[in-house]
Amino acid sequence: MSSVLASIGSFGRQALPAARFAWARATGRKHPLMVTLSVTDRCNFRCEYCKLPDMDRDEMSTADWLRAIDELADAGMMRVSLMGGEPLVRKDIGVLIDHLRARGINIAMNTNGWLVPRKIDEMMKLDLVCVTLDGPPEVHDKQRHRGSQARALSAIELLRSRGKNVVTMTVLTARGIKTVDYVLERARELGVRSFFQLVHDSEGDPDKEIGAGITEGGITEIAQHLLRRKDEGWPVGPSRTYLRALAGEGGQGVRRLHSCGDCYASRYYLSITPTGDVIACPLTFREKSHNGREIGFLRAFEQLPQPQASGCACYPTQELNYMLGGQSEVIFNALGTALGDLITPAPRPPAPPDSAFDEAPETGHGFAEKSQRRLPLVNSRAAEIR
Ligand code: SF4
Ligand code: SF4
Repeated sequence: MSSVLASIGSFGRQALPAARFAWARATGRKHPLMVTLSVTDRCNFRCEYCKLPDMDRDEMSTADWLRAIDELADAGMMRVSLMGGEPLVRKDIGVLIDHLRARGINIAMNTNGWLVPRKIDEMMKLDLVCVTLDGPPEVHDKQRHRGSQARALSAIELLRSRGKNVVTMTVLTARGIKTVDYVLERARELGVRSFFQLVHDSEGDPDKEIGAGITEGGITEIAQHLLRRKDEGWPVGPSRTYLRALAGEGGQGVRRLHSCGDCYASRYYLSITPTGDVIACPLTFREKSHNGREIGFLRAFEQLPQPQASGCACYPTQELNYMLGGQSEVIFNALGTALGDLITPAPRPPAPPDSAFDEAPETGHGFAEKSQRRLPLVNSRAAEIR
């Protein structure tokens, strides 16, 4: 309940910025509503689908980041996502979080979870924590880092034990696509929602293949499976609107829900790279941009052109596109996540039939062992491999 009250308080603080945003929309002006701060490329992991740590771009100083936060907060920024690399490897991450809080900004962070216990005081100041969970250890640890699945679950347990609002993010790869039910079961035990994201090119290039190794039919099956699970009351994070769009028509799943030219990124949200380039979203780092250290962060945003790449199905940005397009189901779904399901309480899931049970996975972790039974894996056709 305390996290719910904190979330409500955070929204209350944002009444004025919300009004400013509404005015900007009505008058057709850009507005830095939501901002991703990619504070570092450094990471304690080397996940097989990610080359971000290899980019190793220069990092802005603490003073540069504080300047960026101030300029954008003055202009009406309401929400920040702290990303990396792994944002917790920055020694000054607590300073940045404290400053964002002092400016009344709603703060989310994406983390692999490994350093959460060491940084628990800083984590408790966040409004939402997103921990990556790719499946059981044999999938998660293979794709990410040995021993990291148990650490991710422990991090979520620690945060939840202190009342923090947490979600999981699962990168759907050809190997991991069969494990969504495993993730949903852990999520239900931990009291969190689970989000799912098709794997991108390892550099995040939106012009390269999205969901490599998964057929269009496989995308449709996984989207329809998640829709069914959501209807059954499982803690599926994405909205029905998003999942239906992903499922496509005629069994032809969709890899890009919007093109970059058709996206609200660069108009109402933006990203700042570790080196201070102001770009539309973390995937569009190759497009024309300006550096905030050189011309000012707000000015760099105002001069940011609409990106021209092919587009994506990234969960948070595409849900934002639907929200800004006035899709009420998406708005209520997002409110449920932000308020820890106060507004849209998930119905109790029906017990699966006995015949559906499988052996519990051998994880060596308390959460998995608590769950003596689990749902069967997604129909294997959902994971068609080319
Ligand atoms: S996916 Fe995240 S945790 Fe893995 S290497 Fe990339 S930044 Fe690090
Ligand atoms: S569609 Fe939007 S979020 Fe996706 S890559 Fe293009 S600009 Fe970024």
